[in-house]
Amino acid sequence: MTTTHDVVNPATEETVRTIDLVGVEETDEAVARAVEVGPAWRALAPADRGRLLRRFSDVVGDHVEELARLEVANSGHTIGNARWEAGNVRDVLAYYSAAPERLFGRQIPVGGGIDLTFKEPLGVVSVIVPWNFPMPIAGWGFAPALAAGNTVVLKPAELTPLTAMRLAELALEAGIPEGVFTVLPGKGSVVGERFVTHPDVRKVCFTGSTAVGQGIMRGAADQLKRVTLELGGKSANIVFADADLEAAAAAAPMSFLDNAGQDCCARTRILVQRGVLDDFMGLFESAMREVRVGDPGDEDTQMGPLVSDRQRATVRGFVEESQEPVDVAFRGTAPEGAGYWYPPTVVLPRSTSDRVWQDEVFGPVVGVMPFDDEADAVAKANDTAYGLSGSIWTRDVGRAIRVSRGVEAGNLSVNSHSSVRYSTPFGGFKSSGIGRELGPDALDAFTEVKNIFISTEN
Ligand code: NAP
Ligand code: MG
Repeated sequence: MTTTHDVVNPATEETVRTIDLVGVEETDEAVARAVEVGPAWRALAPADRGRLLRRFSDVVGDHVEELARLEVANSGHTIGNARWEAGNVRDVLAYYSAAPERLFGRQIPVGGGIDLTFKEPLGVVSVIVPWNFPMPIAGWGFAPALAAGNTVVLKPAELTPLTAMRLAELALEAGIPEGVFTVLPGKGSVVGERFVTHPDVRKVCFTGSTAVGQGIMRGAADQLKRVTLELGGKSANIVFADADLEAAAAAAPMSFLDNAGQDCCARTRILVQRGVLDDFMGLFESAMREVRVGDPGDEDTQMGPLVSDRQRATVRGFVEESQEPVDVAFRGTAPEGAGYWYPPTVVLPRSTSDRVWQDEVFGPVVGVMPFDDEADAVAKANDTAYGLSGSIWTRDVGRAIRVSRGVEAGNLSVNSHSSVRYSTPFGGFKSSGIGRELGPDALDAFTEVKNIFISTEN
């Protein structure tokens, strides 16, 4: 029996397409094919594997607009963001297309012979993708995995499978051999769990919620399967009194409203030094009024709808329907009628233990709290289970470095909110995950080091 899923446009609630969901049997078939074609893929001359990835990048580049429009319809992303996301897949493929020829081992001095290390592919690598960034997160997994000589099975989120399915077609068009990269739209509880239990899947590269990530790690322990986990976040945006307050306030709205707040790096806890709190709030409120929320297909829109009615209910559960009192400082506007809209919302938590201050909302909601001095700022920033990213606004270089080093998170930015670049490492401390993606060392997460000693005495 085939089960189906209606892909819904979050801005209109109309069905975009109905897709057949893959079950365990088809997952096993795809893994078997990935095993079968693995030896030929890894045996390709490094330059040839690189050339194929470059062709894949070029074909994605030729389809940026089509992929972007598909993402707007499937995920409600703004067209500007969606173009960036498709372009990111192109760029990540181009970046890692140079990796096969640079997958260096070492020659280590030893007595009696020569010692060499090799970085061997793992075999079949699985990638489990969430719905918040369907294209980039897929690419961060499959591009370096393929470059390292692995074959890949990838499960998009049930809600947002369309761009991943199209990327698999583009891979074939580019000449990537059949079975080397397979996209399996299906449920997490079916396809995702099968990746964890299937003995021929050697790695699970997962991005999503902390709870599911923990379950995957537990399951992976049975086979000592490798995992990379990119989980949630509750990142701090720390504004010191000596900062360029206008710049900090102008940048604050999109640091938690981008992708309607459905971003693991969203700066959802704003910490402001007490003496400038009122000034900051005034500037921040004006900046919030400028944010354009609406039709994600419009070129000028900065924030679209949430991905689903369920996600909107989750967000309401943190604010309107919260068990504990939540004080709203001010709100932006959002369209009414069809679509999973939620207005940008600024709250003033009463205590650092408030749920809205501690838990990942994954919607356009931010909390603001004052701090007294540098030590208090670092302590408050670190008072979270998470540790993905964070920002520090100050004109004092020494303080910028001290606080960046003091915050327990994987990705900090000073006087900006940028955090993900394909050429730099990305990942979390504490409950935000295990392992790093992207950057020059990404292939380490998709290879095993092999050491070979060759005697020169026989
Ligand atoms: P989720 O359940 O963790 O989903 C992420 C991915 O894991 C999806 O592809 C999902 O498939 C799959 N999955 C679910 N259960 C699985 C299982 N038992 N075994 C293997 N794979 C499984 O996240 P969600 O329910 O979509 O979102 C819940 C919350 O997680 C959000 O509100 C947010 O706080 C957080 N989140 C964080 C990130 C991030 O970037 N770190 C991304 C998304 C969500 P299906 O979708 O098909 O079930
Ligand atoms: Mg889930």
